[in-house]
Amino acid sequence: MNATHPASLWKPMDDGRVHCNLCCHFCIIAPGERGLCGVRTNKDGELLTLVYGLVAALNIDPVEKKPLYHFLPGTTTLSFGTPGCNLRCSFCQNHTLSQPPRHGSAIKGQPAEPMALAETALDSGCKSVSYTYSEPTIFFEFARDTAVEAKKLGLANILVSNGFMSPACLDELGPLVDAANIDLKAFTPAFYDTVCGGKLEPVKKNLVRMRKLGWWLEVTTLIIPGLNDTPEELGNLARFIAEELGPHTPWHISRFHPDFMMPSTPPTPPSTMENAWDVGRQAGLEYVYIGNMPAGSHNNTVCHSCGKTLLERRGFSVAMVALENGRCNACGATVPGRFGLA
Ligand code: SF4
Repeated sequence: MNATHPASLWKPMDDGRVHCNLCCHFCIIAPGERGLCGVRTNKDGELLTLVYGLVAALNIDPVEKKPLYHFLPGTTTLSFGTPGCNLRCSFCQNHTLSQPPRHGSAIKGQPAEPMALAETALDSGCKSVSYTYSEPTIFFEFARDTAVEAKKLGLANILVSNGFMSPACLDELGPLVDAANIDLKAFTPAFYDTVCGGKLEPVKKNLVRMRKLGWWLEVTTLIIPGLNDTPEELGNLARFIAEELGPHTPWHISRFHPDFMMPSTPPTPPSTMENAWDVGRQAGLEYVYIGNMPAGSHNNTVCHSCGKTLLERRGFSVAMVALENGRCNACGATVPGRFGLA
């Protein structure tokens, strides 16, 4: 079932084609054709989105699962996504959701209205709504309208994204989003080009812009054996976060497991994950977390000032052991993040 709806952020061209300005692919789409993401189509010279109001995954998740570790810890977030993505990462762990529209497959989901989603979040005790699972950029209109309704109800909005949206898209999302977890998948243009079908530079620029917008920002990197796991590359990536986004920006390093088009690549060795954690700390990052594997103390939040353990995590559950009103109760340092109500 396709849910057609007028798209935003595009311009008509003189010859009937349209120019989509939603993500950094900037597709030019002929009548009857779809853009690279497969969920925006030119119908008689007008751009339509095929995923407005069409939910393909919907859950109430711990906010730690996004992952966000410094934003309303211990709360739940209503999380949803539509089919589709503007990238084609070979390692995608949500490929059954993200990739079929790119190949022209039927776009499947359940109908849902923005206001009903926001009300469900509130009624379920969630403190936020998360736009996640696939890529929220490609369901921008649906996410935007839901975010407006969520704000009216006092809920926070969380973006979980590859960060490849256009500047115009980011402008519109700016006042609506409270927190984001953005993938920084590697630190070479070649990786983004060959493994993901995207570009590195726009993601870097968007991350810097998001920081200036005042969003609470956390960054995730999936460490893949042989593709992005050298100390040199990880050091460059971590230094970019520390220098351009700030040393207090949490960096989630996540363990690769074989998936999608990479069934033969082995899981990341635990020693590589430990080394990446060290690289992040040496680059100046104060909060580095290991995910997708048991990580012991590397999953806890430790005060950057005195080293006291502030939050202990087991899986997605969290216990505040020495954090009060966003301050370390041992040394009084303010811990970066949002630890109050939304
Ligand atoms: S959202 Fe991106 S990939 Fe999709 S049509 Fe627009 S420019 Fe192309």
